[in-house]
Amino acid sequence: MNRRNLKINIIWALVIVVLFVSTACKSRKPANFNVVLIVIDTLRSDHLSFYGYSQETTPFLSQLVNRSILFKNVFSASSWTSPATASIFTSLYPFQHGVMMGLLAIIKAKTIDPEIKVNKIPEEIETITEVLKRNGFNTYGISDNLNIGEKQGFDQGFDRLRTFNYQGAPRVNTILKKWKNDIMNNGKYFLYLHYMDPHAPYHQHEPLTIPLKGKKNISISAYDSEIRYVDHHIEEAFNMFDWDKNTLVIITSDHGEGLWDHGVMGHGYTLYREEIQVPLLMLLPVAKHHKEISTNVSTIDILPTVRELVGLSDSKHDEGMSLVPLIYNEKKKPDERFIFSHLWNIVSETHKKIEFKATIYRQIHFMIRSPLKRELYDLYNDKKERNNRFITNRKSARTLESKFNLFMKKCKKYNPESIYYRLSDEKLERLKSLGYIR
Ligand SMILES: [Zn+2]
Repeated sequence: MNRRNLKINIIWALVIVVLFVSTACKSRKPANFNVVLIVIDTLRSDHLSFYGYSQETTPFLSQLVNRSILFKNVFSASSWTSPATASIFTSLYPFQHGVMMGLLAIIKAKTIDPEIKVNKIPEEIETITEVLKRNGFNTYGISDNLNIGEKQGFDQGFDRLRTFNYQGAPRVNTILKKWKNDIMNNGKYFLYLHYMDPHAPYHQHEPLTIPLKGKKNISISAYDSEIRYVDHHIEEAFNMFDWDKNTLVIITSDHGEGLWDHGVMGHGYTLYREEIQVPLLMLLPVAKHHKEISTNVSTIDILPTVRELVGLSDSKHDEGMSLVPLIYNEKKKPDERFIFSHLWNIVSETHKKIEFKATIYRQIHFMIRSPLKRELYDLYNDKKERNNRFITNRKSARTLESKFNLFMKKCKKYNPESIYYRLSDEKLERLKSLGYIR
């Protein structure tokens, strides 16, 4: 391509972007494209090739990134499924929407008691599904994680939601294939897919990777192979639907995974970076282009971004911010703001309650494990969070701690809702087989 043609192409691309932004964002009538939100459970971003990981874990997603917006520093609102996913759905922090623990975590904490009390997303909160349903989208969801179901209020707004427990990406895609005609032939749609494969127990899939010795290394290799496995199944879903046309596709995760960086394999134990830093990429419906954005963002920003991209007004209920200004270089960019993450847990062995609070600001990650243990890390220069700088940065730590506490005190909190749920014998057996109950 000669320089003149290149210049003309660039000008046309800019014209298309401007037209798309002006029609999608300023119109009160929702734009006429589909929205697909894919959550890959337990996916820490630093194990993805397009975030610089040394193994080839994401051959398909890496290609997709070439025509997508990639957010480099994304923090989840919590480190396990139910609170974190409820935050994606509502643009609220866990202590606002009230879903502090997942169904499976409660079962684990209660061990053998088949009757449990489960928090759910309060009816008065409008979820992403309800927002889109109210604006003319047909709404479908398939979740391979039992937490993401009607028991905890995730069904709100779905025309059809199928939830099951860790049956693997092929099951998700089989149902997707069955629903394909209905999804494609009834107008614009919102589709939610929740893949579970990188969640423990890890299975080694071929082909990956260099054979490694040692129990931990073998597990990490299996975790990586699960990522590649789910990458392949996302490619399969793309091939089924042709989402390159007229569809906004958002891919993220609910939380990361410890992989022994700070002594634990799983998640929901701490708020260290490996448990809360997740991927986020957005394939825009038109005017696709690649851009990498380094500003810190949160998974609670997804709903406000979707609102703006589909042409809906912003909502005073959203705690997150639209990322559209970052995508299109508009003047009104999100400030370098304080991003929070929260974890509330009952240790199943001891029944002891623990609470973690984290504040991320610029390159600082402050974390407190109530009531006493405080840590502060430099996200730029200490990526593995080995060097706790709390002692030498007490002033910053105090500021970040008080920002969290002030926000927690003053933010809008919704009336918690909960239901009693009795597990069937069959479900108890299944959960025992997965190691949730001993
Ligand atoms: Zn999860």
